[in-house]
Amino acid sequence: MIEDVILTTENCRYCLMCRHVCPVGHVTRLETLTPHGWGLTISSIRRGTLEIDESTVDAIYSCADCGTCRANCVTDQPLPSAIAAMRAEIAAAGQALPAVYEVQTKLEKFSNPYTEKSPEQAKGQGDVALFVGDDAQYLGQDALQAALRLLEAVGVKPVLIGAGRNNGYLASSLGFPQLSFDLAMATLAELEATGASSMMVLTPGDYYAFRQMHDERHGLAWPGGVTIQEVIPFLAEHLTAGNLNFKRVDDETPYAYVDPTHAVRVGGRHDAPRQLVAEVMPTEGKELFWRRERAHPSGNVALQYTQPHIANHMAYSRLGDALERGVQLLITEDPAGRAFLNRHAPRFDLQVAGLYELLADNLA
Ligand code: SF4
Ligand code: SF4
Repeated sequence: MIEDVILTTENCRYCLMCRHVCPVGHVTRLETLTPHGWGLTISSIRRGTLEIDESTVDAIYSCADCGTCRANCVTDQPLPSAIAAMRAEIAAAGQALPAVYEVQTKLEKFSNPYTEKSPEQAKGQGDVALFVGDDAQYLGQDALQAALRLLEAVGVKPVLIGAGRNNGYLASSLGFPQLSFDLAMATLAELEATGASSMMVLTPGDYYAFRQMHDERHGLAWPGGVTIQEVIPFLAEHLTAGNLNFKRVDDETPYAYVDPTHAVRVGGRHDAPRQLVAEVMPTEGKELFWRRERAHPSGNVALQYTQPHIANHMAYSRLGDALERGVQLLITEDPAGRAFLNRHAPRFDLQVAGLYELLADNLA
């Protein structure tokens, strides 16, 4: 756990070094809503020169908690975690936005923000578990089934865990560290009951939550002796080893791969999805401007509940980036990111396809 993480704001308050990569600053063009703006707001509240009121709460709940600042910080300052820590103080004092408490109630009752259903119980035991989460369970069943077909093609039949349960990021990001901790503990208990020595995840957001966020923000370390790996890089390793073969699609629509929300928080994962996409598509893909270590989120962050207009503008920005590059088709593996982009894609005359489905449908 990072002690006194909120003190990070003292380092950020007059630093402009990651300002240019912040997606919220990019879409709002408001100086308050940039990394040093949040640093200055929070450090001023702590000095007693600024009050917690409607305007400061609104600003503090406008950060996307996307990690792009930290991924581009030469001293690796955990500013998003500092902002989450400030939100925890605000939420505990009952001063957060109403939407924050509405999502808290849903997470407490059902472990997800989407539907009034509790998570499914894991069935059986095995060496490998796959964390489904709430995004794949409620927004991406096709992606989940496709991922299972791909894993089966390389001899892996995982036990499904966490089906319908948030990975804890949403609660943490909104300022509920104990709730986030409890959600992660429920998944870790399921993992232990399966006897698995490896947990696979479908997105970099899940990887970040379990491998880094819970440890840094809540002191919940990943269990020793258990590996965690994203499915996409795992499949890319099998492709390189010659264990996976695909046929090419017969469709020359100009396309680009969209790095999923939180991809910037997982180093070394950017080549794997591109390697897989290139195996299936008949032409070379284009690259968005906001890609790889500076990739912006697609809108599927906590902001969609607290500041939906900013979240929507982040999706417009991703779609506009694609249009500027002459792209007609976007491909991504993140079920929630895909759903969010899809909500707005028709206005841009764009299509959004799932990477897992694209790969599974073209297994040779
Ligand atoms: S995260 Fe790093 S680069 Fe960004 S404002 Fe803070 S110290 Fe500066
Ligand atoms: S977490 Fe994202 S939105 Fe928040 S300050 Fe950093 S780059 Fe900006």
